[in-house]
Amino acid sequence: MSRRASDYDESDVRIRPGRRGSRPRSKDRPAHDDALRGMVTAVDRGRYTILVAEGVGGGDQPERVVTAMKARELGRRGIVVGDEVGLVGDTSGNPDGLARVVRVNPRRSVLRRSADDTDPVERVIVANADQLVIVCALTNPEPRPRLIDRCLVAAYDAGLAPLLVLTKADLQDPGPFLASYAPLNVRHVVTSTGRSAFEGLEALYDQLVDRVSVFVGHSGVGKSTLVNGLVPAAGRATGVVNDVTGRGRHTSSSAVALRLPGRHGWVIDTPGVRSFGLAHVDLERIITHFPDLEPGTERCPRGCSHDEPECALDAWVGSGQAGPAGPSRLESLRRLLRARSGETD
Ligand code: GDP
Ligand code: ZN
Repeated sequence: MSRRASDYDESDVRIRPGRRGSRPRSKDRPAHDDALRGMVTAVDRGRYTILVAEGVGGGDQPERVVTAMKARELGRRGIVVGDEVGLVGDTSGNPDGLARVVRVNPRRSVLRRSADDTDPVERVIVANADQLVIVCALTNPEPRPRLIDRCLVAAYDAGLAPLLVLTKADLQDPGPFLASYAPLNVRHVVTSTGRSAFEGLEALYDQLVDRVSVFVGHSGVGKSTLVNGLVPAAGRATGVVNDVTGRGRHTSSSAVALRLPGRHGWVIDTPGVRSFGLAHVDLERIITHFPDLEPGTERCPRGCSHDEPECALDAWVGSGQAGPAGPSRLESLRRLLRARSGETD
């Protein structure tokens, strides 16, 4: 039914015949050797915002933001934030100009999302990211460990390094939370807006330099506050979130890439993404994303689902070998396994 991004390759992108077969004229068309390279920073109803670097298209060309549409020959090929694309047409960056995306370069990573755990329709939401920044408040709202575990699985599965950012340390001591997550060896940064200084912001900045980082977190955790602290020009809407609609004052629900000022690095904000359906994740692979529990499966029966009475994990975790967070991590694993196999989370 749905095609995974990995089903496409570069040759697919260059010459994708339409569903009615290839159009004859495309055979003679030059392969767009003159296409200029740019990075997609936003997508809005078929219009792509693309940053083209200084000097691209001629030595005296400044860095510019180009608006483009997808060339017909790309067919239904998806283009997402973070994609590296080839552009032709009006690439001047003039407000009225419109370029065409004629090529999507092979992706180094894809962050996928399905609407829920059994929905076969999945979407790539961000391409070419290196890091998934999971923003979690220490209180108000309370941390949701199962949601964090789910994000960790999504990160490992996409090949992104996870980074936990724990906000609102001025309201709650991070000690107990950090102790419970210590066995996972996930990098973390603690932040607080406090009274005057924004503590932890520089430490976070250091983790973002030279990386493309996707920020996720559910409403109210302080994600916009962080993004505004990091990229002041971004002006992401912050504040009280409407409980009924679940939306804040955000006007966009799709991802936007923002450049880290001063150094190389990108922050990709995802206003509409609060969790990840994991329908695309192999059931057998989920346990490999729980490195703190995996050693305990050595004594499992062959083909153990890790959600059955014979599973060795209960005894292993029960004897304390997975540390203090073991029991909640095991519960989290089982919830993910059940959710993934069709039962509700
Ligand atoms: P978002 O929904 O995740 O984008 O959250 P916002 O950035 O809009 O923040 C939600 C609320 O939490 C706002 O009222 C912020 O002022 C507040 N907030 C964010 N970070 C902190 C923090 O470190 N400490 C405290 N006390 N409040 C914070
Ligand atoms: Zn097992």
